[in-house]
Amino acid sequence: MTVLMRPKPLDGFKVREFNMLIDGKWTAGAEGKILERASPGHGAVVSRYQAATAVDANRAIASARKAFDDGHWPRMTGAERSRILLRAADIIDERADELAFLDCIESGKPISQAKGELGGAADIWRYAAALARDLHGESYNTLGDGTLGVVLREAIGVVSIITPWNFPFLIVSQKLPFALAAGCTAVVKPSELTSGSTLVLGEILEAAGVPAGVVNVIVGTGPEAGAPLTSHPDIDMVSFTGSTGIGKLTMANAAQTLKKVSLELGGKNPQIVFPDANLDDFIDAAVFGAYFNAGECCNAGSRLIVHREILDEVTSRVAALSAKVKVGDPLDPSTQVGAIITPQHLAKIVSYVKGASENGASVAVGGTAADLGLGQFMEPTILSSVAPDMAVAKEEVFGPVLSVLAFETTDEAIRVANSIDYGLSAGVWSRDFDTCLTVGRRVRAGTVWMNTFMDGASELPFGGYRQSGIGRELGRHAVEDYTETKTLNMHIGPRTGHWMPKEARG
Ligand code: NAD
Repeated sequence: MTVLMRPKPLDGFKVREFNMLIDGKWTAGAEGKILERASPGHGAVVSRYQAATAVDANRAIASARKAFDDGHWPRMTGAERSRILLRAADIIDERADELAFLDCIESGKPISQAKGELGGAADIWRYAAALARDLHGESYNTLGDGTLGVVLREAIGVVSIITPWNFPFLIVSQKLPFALAAGCTAVVKPSELTSGSTLVLGEILEAAGVPAGVVNVIVGTGPEAGAPLTSHPDIDMVSFTGSTGIGKLTMANAAQTLKKVSLELGGKNPQIVFPDANLDDFIDAAVFGAYFNAGECCNAGSRLIVHREILDEVTSRVAALSAKVKVGDPLDPSTQVGAIITPQHLAKIVSYVKGASENGASVAVGGTAADLGLGQFMEPTILSSVAPDMAVAKEEVFGPVLSVLAFETTDEAIRVANSIDYGLSAGVWSRDFDTCLTVGRRVRAGTVWMNTFMDGASELPFGGYRQSGIGRELGRHAVEDYTETKTLNMHIGPRTGHWMPKEARG
């Protein structure tokens, strides 16, 4: 029986009202549209935003274009940009409780987790600040006496940044500080479900000294406010995190003007466990991997691929621990699994479980929505006897639902792991060095954790193979992603190797 923490009503709560940030001014939308966000854990409206349409998106793009073309931001020294990013990180720390509260109340994630994400986000801003001073190109002094080659890294220009609802502040922090470090200007559009903390980030950047127009933040739905950011000719690059479907649409729109795209998309990540693994550690990581952020996580370890020798033991131990996970009020500091983002999404999660049961999977624990009086919640759920070709084993459920699959040989485990369209991350558990490295090298995923799961660091690149995306975020090359390469080919001394004969040249 899951531990349920019933949400307390948000009595006396003051709804927070937000304008958009365009060209250094906090403004209403041109068409007077308003979006409201209700807390998924409490059912009450908590935020009200001015919503952008194409008119506002175009104004924001024009502002970012002007700020880039006037050259002030891109031509600042790396040290100056770095100082501003460091100030931003300090203000993020100062306002961390407010930001975490907004992310918690709008997304339904547990408050303790939201606070942890803020700490991680501030660290990324500091890491990007360091990279701002280290961005450099190459020189070639090996091309002969007459030639010096210099390869410059230049800011790519105006970047549009589109983010999802599941890690609102963390994901914009995986993109924007690197774009700014490179000297780019930006239009940012967070998910219309969780825009609050990104709008506060706009205030933070103003206070840190980012000049007007360098960062514009608009709120709105994907088709109205997002689509113009993927197709407008004045946008040079689109950095998108979200579903694979919208990622494909983004790439198709961007192709019309050949924009660079960076896409961080869905995942269906396996954790492969061998009989010699430290099972105590693994069981905890399996539960964490499946239910962290209510499973609404691109990195969720939603497929356990378990050696048949330990299948029954692993299934029963993971089920026993799952039943102790605390589900409920996102504002309760002891909650581990919060609310599901929308009622529609909850219905989709439940329908995946129903479909799997109808196709022969067994529900080992959970399996239904949890009625806690307010908001919408899902019980941590384990499905056993899942076959690799079932929808629940191949598609992103994006909820606290874990599918258990069996294998007998290492080759079979790798085959099952690689048998889907995604390739974001994977975990392998064994005390044997050879086993870990064999699986680690053959699994087609951007990150492979060995004897751990979902650890992260600003220094380590993150991104997906195949339909999990294009490009990498974080790591020391993250700033370079927001640059163009320019070759300066310089001749030294009198021209040699003339094309026209001497007689013709006189
Ligand atoms: P989504 O694709 O529905 O929306 C993402 C963003 O795109 C939102 O801001 C949305 O308003 C916008 N959008 C929607 N339609 C658009 C359009 N036509 N043009 C431009 N923008 C549009 O995704 P979501 O439901 O917000 O987030 C969940 C998805 O994000 C999952 O698939 C998850 O795996 C993925 N995700 C991936 C990563 C990663 O790093 N790989 C991280 C977090 C989430």
